[in-house]
Amino acid sequence: MFSTRWGRVQTTRLVQPRLLRAPQCRIRAQTRCSPSAPRLWKVSRLLPLKIRAAVNVLNLSTPSGILIARLGNAKLRRGPRGLVFAEGYRFRFPIAGAFTVGNVIITARTMRALADRTPGVLKHEDAHAWQWCALGPLFLPSYVLAMGWSVVRTGSIALANPFEMHAGLVSGGYVRPDESDESLRARSARSNAERNDFQNDVDEAASAF
Ligand SMILES: [Zn+2]
Repeated sequence: MFSTRWGRVQTTRLVQPRLLRAPQCRIRAQTRCSPSAPRLWKVSRLLPLKIRAAVNVLNLSTPSGILIARLGNAKLRRGPRGLVFAEGYRFRFPIAGAFTVGNVIITARTMRALADRTPGVLKHEDAHAWQWCALGPLFLPSYVLAMGWSVVRTGSIALANPFEMHAGLVSGGYVRPDESDESLRARSARSNAERNDFQNDVDEAASAF
C-alpha cells in the first residue's frame, strides 16, 4: 500500500505530468493539422461585409441613411454584418415595416418586434444593403422605376419588383409563406381588375361633368 508521501510523489511524477501534457499535445496537434484555418475562414467570411460597409460609406448611402434616421428621431445601434439599426423612426413615410438606406435599416418599431412579425426580415434588408452597394446613387431611381413597373403589372409595389424579388418576397412580408404562385397570380389579376374598375369610375365621373 502506498504511503501518503509516496502517493504524492507518484502523483506528481507519473500521473500529473501525463494529465498536464495531454491538452498541450492536443492543441499542438490541432495547430499542426490546420494552421490558421479558422482565422482564414473568418477573414474570408468578413471581408465582403467590410467591403460592402466601405463602399456604402463612399457612395454616401450609409451617411444618408444615418441622416434620415436622425431626422426621424430614430435610435441608432450596431447590428450584425456591419449593419446599423435605426429604431423608433417617427415618420410614416415611406410606408413599410422597415426600409434600408446603405447599411442602415430604419424602422418605426424595434428590429426584434419586426423579426417577430416577419421572420427573415433581417436577411431581406441585408439584401437591400447589397443592392445599395452594387448601384450606389443609382439604386433609388432604379428602385422607383421597378416599383412603378410592378404596380402597373400587378397592382403591388413588390410582386414584380426585381429588387424585392431578389431580396425575398416572403421575408419582406409581401407574400405569405403558404401563398402559391397560382394564388399570387390570382391576387395580381384581382388588383388589376380593381384598378381598372376604379379607373372606369373616375372616367365615368369625369364624363358626367
Ligand atoms: Zn424590401
